[in-house]
Amino acid sequence: MKSILKEVLTRCVSATGLFHVARGATGDQLRIFTWHGVEHCDDPYLNFDQLQVDPVRFERQVKWVVSRYRILSGSAFLEVLESGKPWPDRSALITFDDGYANNLAIAGPILQALGVPAIAFLTTGFLGRDLYPWWYVLRSEWPSVFPGKGVPALMEEERRLASMTCSERSALMQERGFRLDHPEPFPFLEPSQLPGLEAAGIEVGLHGHAHLACGVEDRARLTADLEICRTKLLAWGVKPLPLFAYPYGSVPEVWTDGGNACSRMSGLADLGIIAAFTTRMGLNPRDTDPYLLRRYDVTGRRTPANLAMMTSGLVF
Ligand SMILES: [Zn+2]
Repeated sequence: MKSILKEVLTRCVSATGLFHVARGATGDQLRIFTWHGVEHCDDPYLNFDQLQVDPVRFERQVKWVVSRYRILSGSAFLEVLESGKPWPDRSALITFDDGYANNLAIAGPILQALGVPAIAFLTTGFLGRDLYPWWYVLRSEWPSVFPGKGVPALMEEERRLASMTCSERSALMQERGFRLDHPEPFPFLEPSQLPGLEAAGIEVGLHGHAHLACGVEDRARLTADLEICRTKLLAWGVKPLPLFAYPYGSVPEVWTDGGNACSRMSGLADLGIIAAFTTRMGLNPRDTDPYLLRRYDVTGRRTPANLAMMTSGLVF
């Protein structure tokens, strides 16, 4: 009920043209949109957060973005970033995290039909079948491991697990009886599909090998993990863009604690990474720290009115 009221209110404000005016006034700031998967899934546990977006809704969302913004490819974004010039008016990026197979099979043709480039931040451990996202293991098995405990309890548990190190989380999940080799509800891209991804106009960026939370893991482990990610991609015939998306949007606090951008993010800069993407929502003025770029997370719940409000610059 609350969400219906919110949507009605948002549509009313949208009808006044206020979001349009605000968008025009902030046209010099970069908008970055993030999707994860594009696949129909109405399982209340598996897709409680609508991270897998229904293809019809995805197409509507992308069309909304494309009709209002000029989508830069990853390479064009890097060129502008390195030139020091202002963002071209109404610039935006379309990004995907993790590397689901449906990015190519379902989102790919929709983007191609619209002539829209994108960046896919890939987790090589998922693509190489060394790992599968623990959150889909948790969601798949939740009703059998904790019968009677509903989605709110699942959400709380997932939030808690996301803030742990990889080894702490694995130990806890195993102790509770989750089978970490569970079948995969949403398969990942095969390494052999990566050239097809690039041919579809989707360039590749880094999302680590083991999808580690940078805010809690040891820095040496993060550095090694990123090197594995890059080495795997190169071995699979892809030259990734020097762009990194923080898994879970988790930014190392020690790296953001004072100092200028280059020094505080030197761990990434030393690895040749030129820009890094958080999950903090908001616009990116030209002087935004390139290692703390903000993005709009687009789930299946985002309606056009909601997108209008979110990206107007009035709310975030
Ligand atoms: Zn991720």
